[in-house]
Amino acid sequence: MVFRVTGMGDVKKQYNVLIIDSQKYLTKSVENSPSYKPLFPFLAEADSLALANAKLNLDTAFAKFFAGTGGFPTFKSRRRSRASYTTNNQHGTIRIEAGKVRLPKVGFVRFTQHRPFEGVIRSATVSMTRTGKFFVALLVDQDDEPWIPAENKVGIDLGLKHFAVMTNDEMVSEKIGNPRFLCQSEAKVKKSQRALSRKKIGSKNREKAKLILAKKHEKIANQRKDFLHKLSRRIVDENQVIVVETLKSKDMMKDHKVAKSIGDVSWYEFVRQLEYKSNFYGRTLIKADPWYASTQICSSCGVKGEKKTMDVREWTCACGAHHDRDINASINLLMLAD
Ligand SMILES: [Zn+2]
Repeated sequence: MVFRVTGMGDVKKQYNVLIIDSQKYLTKSVENSPSYKPLFPFLAEADSLALANAKLNLDTAFAKFFAGTGGFPTFKSRRRSRASYTTNNQHGTIRIEAGKVRLPKVGFVRFTQHRPFEGVIRSATVSMTRTGKFFVALLVDQDDEPWIPAENKVGIDLGLKHFAVMTNDEMVSEKIGNPRFLCQSEAKVKKSQRALSRKKIGSKNREKAKLILAKKHEKIANQRKDFLHKLSRRIVDENQVIVVETLKSKDMMKDHKVAKSIGDVSWYEFVRQLEYKSNFYGRTLIKADPWYASTQICSSCGVKGEKKTMDVREWTCACGAHHDRDINASINLLMLAD
């Protein structure tokens, strides 16, 4: 560890440095100044803007710390699970040509571009996952696309029995189940976790088991994101106003320990995706108050009935209306759209 703070005077001279070395490892350590380059030859392998950005990050972190608004900056080790660096484009030092992306000092790297863009690249952030996969995120200056208004409004109830139950203003309801592959992957993760716990600390087999576990985690996270992206994109395409419930009560989670791990991560990420996609395409996203009794109110007569426990899937209101619990909830959420 090269990170030292011997006094406040020294702090300003600290440099936060990130490099990709020839073995394609991302390395992060803290150094004092460019004059240390002769002493630490690996500094010369990083491009100067990457070093400058890392320094900016550290300066900001220290400014926050001394202002009392942040904790002491943590040391970023080269063995950290996820490493990344950001560098800026200067007159085409970052550019895309024939399926390759050019990065300063690194040169052209073969890559898979997820979507095309028009506009100027401002910066690139290169990151490496725990399993050694590299990603580059390009920040691009682009004119906003004109968006086309959508026809419908929709209310979405998030749950454990189904991932989402939605009803639109044409009173078409749809139940989206929890994807089976997520449950299957969760079981595989548990198995790898047990395998890891049996391995001796510090052994090679333990390192191997760690990598296997990290790969399973990565896969499940990707599967989950893919599922959520497709669903949120479709909802934003079809609807101009989207009402979603944001919080789930704790008692609902109690009896569903397995589903919990799938549920809580996904709901948060799903609402986050709906939010930024709504902003991007000019949709209105309404987050219902967590206290809004979407499940308890009868969507036909508006009377709030008694509290319904989780096992009540269907019920009949005093007004005679018969309800599916989740569809009724989504209709009540839809009513907040007007
Ligand atoms: Zn009723």
